[in-house]
Amino acid sequence: MSEPKPLAGKRVCLDPGHPSEVGMGTRGRVLTEVGVAWTIALRVGGLLLERGAVVQLTKSAERENVVNQKRADIANRFRADLLLRFHCDAAAGRGVATYYPDRQGKTKRGVTGPAPAVLAVTKRIAPTFHRALIRSLAGTTMRDRGLKTDMATAIGAMQGALTGSIFSQVPVLLVEMAVLTNAQDEAFLRDPKGHERMAIALADAAQAALTA
Ligand SMILES: [Zn+2]
Repeated sequence: MSEPKPLAGKRVCLDPGHPSEVGMGTRGRVLTEVGVAWTIALRVGGLLLERGAVVQLTKSAERENVVNQKRADIANRFRADLLLRFHCDAAAGRGVATYYPDRQGKTKRGVTGPAPAVLAVTKRIAPTFHRALIRSLAGTTMRDRGLKTDMATAIGAMQGALTGSIFSQVPVLLVEMAVLTNAQDEAFLRDPKGHERMAIALADAAQAALTA
């Protein structure tokens, strides 16, 4: 008899960031955020499938423009157990960071969200996710920029939560996988071994969050 797969029955929606209403995203000297988010999402999707999960992507091509509300809608319709959003940052410092909504936000048009039950699950799984992510990256040059709330982002500070969080009816986490404007972080993701370590770490983190 084969072992049951660890994520059997789990539904994961993977959201490779950009292009969207906030543009194409950042870029390093060689890599683009939209490119890294896309290739990582494909690889994480493959790893999660191997572990028994059912996987949905929010885009069907790297350059497909999908606004953030639609990305959340795709996860909602899929009835995901987790919506996992992939981005790269342009910032001071270096390393990987996880963002989660810790309160309801409100869009310019007055839509509020996420619902209290979604917030509660998200707040519970966010530390589990980030701890597993950092543990899986141990021994690499990738640093820990920490677990942060949506309020630590520019849009989150204005709205209370990111747009993708407000419209999400499922637990939602966003990972800034690297500071792409930092040469060492870009080198980590340009190295196929670094790219693979990041994909494995994200799959490990998703697994920890979904089985906690
Ligand atoms: Zn981004």
